[in-house]
This record gives sequence, C-alpha cells and structure tokens, in this order.
Amino acid sequence: MTEQATPGRQEEEIQEELERLRARIAELQEAKRQLEAELRDTSSGAPAPITTAAELDATLRWFLRRVGMILQAEKAVLMLYEPETGELVAQSPALGLTQDEVEIFRVRATQGISGQVFREGRPIITDDATSDPRTVKENVALLNVRNVLTVPLVVERKDAEGMVVERNNIGVFHVFNKRANGRFAEEDVTLIIALAKSAASVISSAKLYIAVADEKRELERTLQGMLAGVLVVDSDGHIRLMNSAAKHMFGVSADDGTGKPLSQVIRDEEVHELIRSCLSGNAEASAELSVASPEERIFQVQTAMLRGDNDDISGVVATFNDITELRSVERMKSEFVSTVSHELRTPLTSIKGFIRTLLDDTEGYYDRVTQTEFYRIIDTECDRLVRLISDLLNLSRIESGRALDLVLTSVDLGEVVNQVIDSQRSYTNRHEFEIILQDDLPRIVVDRDKVDQILTNLLSNAIKYSPDGGTITVRVQEADGKMAVSVTDEGIGIPEEHIGRLFTRFHRVDSRDSRKQYGTGIGLYLVKHLVEAHHGEVSVESKLGKGSTFTFVLPTDLSREQSGLESAGESAAASTAEPAGGPAADEPS
Ligand code: ADP
Repeated sequence: MTEQATPGRQEEEIQEELERLRARIAELQEAKRQLEAELRDTSSGAPAPITTAAELDATLRWFLRRVGMILQAEKAVLMLYEPETGELVAQSPALGLTQDEVEIFRVRATQGISGQVFREGRPIITDDATSDPRTVKENVALLNVRNVLTVPLVVERKDAEGMVVERNNIGVFHVFNKRANGRFAEEDVTLIIALAKSAASVISSAKLYIAVADEKRELERTLQGMLAGVLVVDSDGHIRLMNSAAKHMFGVSADDGTGKPLSQVIRDEEVHELIRSCLSGNAEASAELSVASPEERIFQVQTAMLRGDNDDISGVVATFNDITELRSVERMKSEFVSTVSHELRTPLTSIKGFIRTLLDDTEGYYDRVTQTEFYRIIDTECDRLVRLISDLLNLSRIESGRALDLVLTSVDLGEVVNQVIDSQRSYTNRHEFEIILQDDLPRIVVDRDKVDQILTNLLSNAIKYSPDGGTITVRVQEADGKMAVSVTDEGIGIPEEHIGRLFTRFHRVDSRDSRKQYGTGIGLYLVKHLVEAHHGEVSVESKLGKGSTFTFVLPTDLSREQSGLESAGESAAASTAEPAGGPAADEPS
C-alpha cells in the first residue's frame, strides 16, 4: 500500500521545495554578483589590464572554472567568429575539453545551435542534444554532449551616459552537461548572459590590446633592426625615439637618449639645424652631413614632419644613412680611372719611344747588343700592358658577377714559382730572390694561368713595396692535402689598420711610401678572388718598416674535392667555376 499525501503534507513539501529554490537563487545571485565584480575589475583594467596572451589565458581559465562550478556543468567553451572563414571556432582554454577536441570543434556560422544563437543573438537551451534536430551530430558525439545552454557573446560599446551605442556579436558561449537534474533552467540563462557579456568585453579588449602590443613590439624590433639610424624628436625638442643604429652613429649609450633634449644627446650643430628647420615648418629636407664624432662619417639625412590629430606639427622624424663607404668607393673609383690611364700610358710611352728610336736609326748608330736591350724593354713593357689588361678583364668579370672559369691541370708548383720569379727578375736589380721548396713536393691540380697571376701579383707587390731592395723569399710546402705558398719581403710593411681592407677593390694604403708607387688597388682584390675560385684562402702578416708575408693555401686536388674523382691526371683538364656567392661578401658596395 502506498502512502497517500495529505493536503497538509503536500503544502509542507511545496514550502520546503520553495525554500530550497530560494536558497539556490540567493546563492546564484551572490555568485553572479561576485563574478561580475571580478570580471568588471579585469575588463575595466583597474588593477592589472590584460596585456599578454598568457594573462588572457589565465583569466579565461578562471572564468570557465567558475562558470562550471556555479552552473554545475561539466564543460564550457567559447567560440569566436572568424570573418575570413565564416566559421565559429572553439577557443582555448575550454573547460572539460581536450586540446584536440578544441582544435576540431568549429562550425559554419549558418550551422547548428552555435550558428542560430550567433545569428539571432538569443540564447537556446537543449535538454537532449542527441535528438534535437538543430544540433550538429558529429560535434555532439565528439564532445559527448547531453544537454546544452548556448548564449551569444555580445560586446557593447557605451557612450558617456552609459547608453549602449553599438552591439557587436563576436561569437557564442556553450555550457554543456548540467550535472544535477540534467537540464539548464531560465535562471541559468539570465546568469550566463550577464557573465558572457563581461567575458566578451574582456576578450575583445584584451585581444585588441594584445594585437596592438604585438604590432608595437614588431615595429620596435623593425626599427631597432634597421641599418639606417632613426631619430624622432617632439615639438619641444625632446627625443621620443632613437633606434640602436642612430645611437651607434652618434656614440650614444644604449640606455641614453629617449626623453632627453636633443641638444644634450647629439652635439652636432648641423643635426640641430636640420631638425629645427623642419620643426619650424620648412618642408621635408634631405642633406649630406659630415660628422666628426665619435668617428668621421658621412651621413645622408632625410627629415620629415610628424603631424598631430589637428594637423599641427607634433615632431620630426629623421633617418640617417651612413654613406661613408659609398663616398670612399666613389673616390677610389675616380682615382682608379686616373691611375689606370697612367698605368696604360707609361708602358705605351716607353714602347713608342724605343720603337721610334730604332726606326730613326737609319745610320746604324746603335749596335746589336743595344738594339736587343731596347727590344727586351719593349717586350717587358708589352708584358706589363698585357697583365694590366688581363687584371682589368678579370675585375670586370668579378664585378658583373660572372664566374671565373678554371681550367684545371696537374701542375708542378715549384716550376711555376721559378718561371714567375725569372720573369720578375727583369724588373729589378735591387732584390735577391730565395726559393724554399719542400722536398718531394707533390703535384697540384689548379688552373696554371690563374696561379701564375696570383704569384705575379704578389711578387710584383713585394718588389714595388720594398723600394730599398732586400731579399724576397718564396716558400712552398704541403700538409694535409693543402699546399701553402708564401711570399715574404723586407719592404715598407703595412699599417695594422689597413690589413683588414687590403683585399677589397681599389684599396690602397695612403702612406707616403705606399703612394710613391703607382698602382690600381685591384691586384690583391684579384688575388683573393682567384684563390677563392680554387677553394683556397689568402692571408697576410706584416710589420711596419720591416716587411710583409702574403700566404695563400690551395687544396692539392680541387677536381677530386669537387667531383669526388680520384685524380684529375696530367691530361685530364676540367673546367670549374668560382664558388657560389660570387664576389667576396665583405666588399664595400
Ligand atoms: P696596387 O696596385 O696599389 O699595388 P694591390 O691591390 O696589389 O694594389 O695592393 C693594395 C695595397 O696594398 C697597395 O696599394 C699597398 O699599399 C699595399 N700592399 C700590397 N702589397 C704590399 C707589400 N708587399 N708590402 C707593403 N704594402 C703592400
């Protein structure tokens, strides 16, 4: 027999149920009040505005945990609308979803409950997700959803009086699987709508802040990484920004500059004048400045006005490009043209003079020995012209980025050294030549003409730059599959500060002793390229007033190194090209 409930008892039960509900409503209202207050704090930015993705992540995690706890739900996930794809995409972090589930969970904004809530801006409760025709079944299965409460994520923009002037729907918020009685109720909706509004506002302002901060960081990185110096000065003459290149150019330490008056940081009066002129409304200017400190440099400066919201001048931005090297190459190029003309004219004048003398000698005034001496001089001067022209041709090949083709043969390097020294002897009677060859020197696979050119350039420099004579020593030795050749003189030597730039084109030491000798400044540049075409290296050691040693090291069998062949052999001539990358990267441009 079942116990029948009397009306009195029923009333009691209803009273109890009402009490329970009242308590629960009070509990929820208190939780809502707390959550809203905490979210408002975060969104109004009072204690600590969200400025990083990590902070946003932590805030959302905390928010989702609280929602899950208050609504007694297993899962909660925010979906944001992506205009580029037209999809609503689940966001990380999510409550009760794995990272994989979050990554898969996305729907078109026209699909399912998510799409409907997003389009209509009204919440939807579903008690049975599996049978509800509006749900997307793969997602219901994927996330193991039983019941759902979905609300729109609306961002409101208010005016000064607190009136909502703009509403923007940025996505939806799903809460899945209510634990207690298995269905979400109306009071859950009211609560969650209010919370979703705060969350949407937090997300949209944090995302905006993070995007702006990222962009700012990116801009700063770009500015700091620029080779050009950038200086921004405000209308009061204070530095607003000075990138590291500009600090380096003006010898300003890394932590100095920003916020200080320009005149305190940069002493150069010409810079002040340019900035002042731009600030006082003169049009953008471009000028070339010579700056003496911290070192002598030439800068190309460009200034432009910065204008504020109401179009008045708020500052000046100046960019500085260091054109010292450019100007020096230009100067060296024009010097080069005049020295080349001279170098061409000198042997030609001599050749012409001796031929004329011989032609005019109709009476047979000069005897056979003297005539032979004249022919020898003409021959030597012709060689000088041929060498110069071949240097110029090689230079133009390198400059136009074409490869220096090598014709590889097996060569006895001792023999090449002897030949080159023999032909150089005719240029001097002040020098002794010493050749030190290692015993049993192996043959080497190289381009014979190019190695001849390398040695000729080094030996003719050794003669030229030891005008008082002395011994010139050529050493050849082999070790570990490499052949080292060094040319040592007892000449004027090279100042230390020039050593690093010696192999760059047109570079000539500007000392009195060095300038006394005619030259084009391309000999060592070619030596470097010819050696590197053989996958070798060239170096120099020198002591001012004592002499210099130039050493180049070549692989003994370049053809084997390149193709993996055993040996190129005496007759097997092979062609190869300069290593990738063309002319040396350390060239001034
Ligand atoms: P150049 O035609 O001027 O001789 P190079 O490129 O051969 O051009 O040499 C560049 C500069 O290096 C020379 O102008 C000279 O100042 C210096 N130099 C080269 N070889 C020597 C050397 N053996 N001793 C001293 N200085 C040298």
